[in-house]
Amino acid sequence: MGGVLPPIFRLRITVYFAENFWEAIVMIDFWNLFEYAVKFHGHTCPGLLIGVRMGVAALNALGVDRSADEELYAVVENDSCAVDGLQTVTGVTFGKGNLLFKDYGKMAATFYLRNKNKAIRLVFKPESFGKIDDGEDLREVMSEKNQEKKMAKFAKIVKRFGDLPDDEIFDIKIVDMDEPAMAEIRQSVRCEKCGEMTMETKTVVKEGKHLCIPCSAGVNYYRVK
Ligand SMILES: [Zn+2]
Ligand SMILES: [Zn+2]
Repeated sequence: MGGVLPPIFRLRITVYFAENFWEAIVMIDFWNLFEYAVKFHGHTCPGLLIGVRMGVAALNALGVDRSADEELYAVVENDSCAVDGLQTVTGVTFGKGNLLFKDYGKMAATFYLRNKNKAIRLVFKPESFGKIDDGEDLREVMSEKNQEKKMAKFAKIVKRFGDLPDDEIFDIKIVDMDEPAMAEIRQSVRCEKCGEMTMETKTVVKEGKHLCIPCSAGVNYYRVK
């Protein structure tokens, strides 16, 4: 599958480092990019495809490659499968601290490029899926239980979606936003109730004791057996 990438990707070969540092995967087209995202995400699904495509469109619009550090920052407005696709393509990741989740329930994301003070917002156009599939192919894909066969059936949809111009899939706007703070490494202190090490800035002083948030509130999401 060649020639499915937007021009900026055709001109460059971007090297992505997989889990194993020595195992460099060279992404040369959209299909490879999608396969890589499936490896991370665990299954094949339309949401992941939208996220991968959104990542490509965002890098294209900003004219940059995958983010190694924190030069690129993103605010995502849902926590669906799409976010995993977006993370694998852009290098904006939850763990690196350059991804912020806002629970707005929208298939939208805003990307901020630090050194250029440039921001763009992408909102998914649901009608774009209708342009590449009348529903038949997608129904067939989703009813397939075997992951390998599912991936093979999904290939033509991925190819068509990869070929669509960015602005037919997303509403892309140049926006303005405040520069996000850089991720910081903070000191940890021991909670004086549960004894677990806790980031100092996340502790609460209650009756003269440094407590973690759940201990200070007296409620937690788990119960010790
Ligand atoms: Zn999924
Ligand atoms: Zn505690």
